[in-house]
Amino acid sequence: MFDMKTIAQKLFPEGELSIESLEKRYPPRNLAAGAAVTRVAPSPTGFIHIGGIFAALISERFSHQQNGIFYLRIEDTDKKREVEGAVGLIVTALQKYGIKIDEGEIELEKETGDYGPYRQSQRADIYQAVARRLIEKGLAYPCFCSPEELEEISKKQGIEKTRPGYYGKWAKCRDMKQEDIIRSIEKGRPFTVRFRSSGDFNNKITVNDLIKEKKILPENDLDVILLKSDRLPTYHFAHVVDDHFMRTTHVLRGDEWFSSLPLHLQLFEAVGWAAPLYGHISPIQKTDGASRRKLSKRKDPEANVDYYEKDGYLTSAIIEYLLNLANSDFEDWRAKNPDADNHKFVLRLEKINQSGALFDLAKLQNISKAIIARMSAGKIAEAALQWARKYDTDLAKEMAKDSGYLEKIFSIERSGEHQRKDIAKWSDLRSEIGYFFDPIFEQEAIAWPKLMPDTGPAEVKAVLEKFLQSYDVANNQEQWFGKIKDMAVDLGYASDLKTFKQSPDKYKGYVADVAKILRVFLTGKTQTPNLYEIMQVMGEKMVVARLKKSLKSL
Ligand code: GLU
Repeated sequence: MFDMKTIAQKLFPEGELSIESLEKRYPPRNLAAGAAVTRVAPSPTGFIHIGGIFAALISERFSHQQNGIFYLRIEDTDKKREVEGAVGLIVTALQKYGIKIDEGEIELEKETGDYGPYRQSQRADIYQAVARRLIEKGLAYPCFCSPEELEEISKKQGIEKTRPGYYGKWAKCRDMKQEDIIRSIEKGRPFTVRFRSSGDFNNKITVNDLIKEKKILPENDLDVILLKSDRLPTYHFAHVVDDHFMRTTHVLRGDEWFSSLPLHLQLFEAVGWAAPLYGHISPIQKTDGASRRKLSKRKDPEANVDYYEKDGYLTSAIIEYLLNLANSDFEDWRAKNPDADNHKFVLRLEKINQSGALFDLAKLQNISKAIIARMSAGKIAEAALQWARKYDTDLAKEMAKDSGYLEKIFSIERSGEHQRKDIAKWSDLRSEIGYFFDPIFEQEAIAWPKLMPDTGPAEVKAVLEKFLQSYDVANNQEQWFGKIKDMAVDLGYASDLKTFKQSPDKYKGYVADVAKILRVFLTGKTQTPNLYEIMQVMGEKMVVARLKKSLKSL
């Protein structure tokens, strides 16, 4: 007869690491009472989902707002899913979004912190030490079932219409005789290590989730795999071991793990450790026709953070939007504290939407417009140019020619009460400021018949000619508008809306229709910021040349 200690020894002949030495290596953290230790634990799959940034942001704010620790752990034990360069993408994304990590890979391949290594693939000996202890205690066992045998079990379960998984009568290796185990090990048969669950699926347990609150779940009875045949752990086991030795106090993670919570709590109990508190974040949703569904990596381009980079969103706008999605009272807070750093906002886990926040691009754009409206022209010019250099090189070339001109463009309607809110993202630049540059403006013919279907060429000609006759760049806005008004009246338009409305039959339109003709021929658009300011920035030469050229083309 062999005891389980001998079996453990045979399974892991190289293992000398003890749990006691690990407890010493990773002592409880010396933090003030109540300080939370949280983490973000992505797998390096090469895809960064906006939901991942959302979860990381919630974890980071939650720990930092109470002087805790937030760390990055790379969950790279599934070697089949791993993509080269993916860790770099994660590190860069966190940096870019200003999600500050205290421990882990602060920079690529540059780890900081006393609880590492922070890449799971470098912690194999730690998981093995714990697995070994569980085997010794009879709480885990080696399983020699081949993939074919497991396939067979699942087929039979399908036929019997019974719950899938390795449990009860299906758990073939659970009660394997010790001699058979030794024989199989000696034969060199590949094995996995399974948990010996003591649960009963018919029992219900109550869990207290930090976000979902009190919920009832069935007890776990699955003998899940703890170590795979490559000796690396599954997520279930790895996170238990890591969150214990890295001294995590609050595990805030995706909702897809919620149903495994009974298993995770059981694992903590089996090893004899206190479990951290858990909060499960529902996936961000979007409306699709009449229904709601989760934002999908496959179907929705906006699920990928790359989308926002290419479209030229400010990361600060995205962060504010995500804070708003996390706690809907963020909006009120922002309205009351327009200039405050958003780190001052206190995020509450219990206020996170339990059934999943609804993603709304229009709302993100509004937040973004409001942020850009608060930025200085110089800052906007700098950020816009940086984006254009990467994603719209033609435009960047023009923008970079004269920094003073660029700043003037962005200064239009930037002071005073009504700040322009026409730019939500840098990909709007071309349509919102492209007309300030001749080579960009001239790339497309002015679609004036479409923009002003009721205005014929003779009318356009009359307006442009008359304007050019009296145009004087030295005029102030009042003088400029006075001239447009006089010109409107001369040409048969009412001087204001009220007069026009009183007897519409008497006039061709009113003064705004005349300004519209000028606007369309100078900018190619019917809506722009203040036209007088635009003309002042463009300067006399550009204004006159454009209008003359238009006259010729009529
Ligand atoms: N690697 C897991 C995931 O990406 C982490 C879950 C967790 O935060 O514990 O889903």
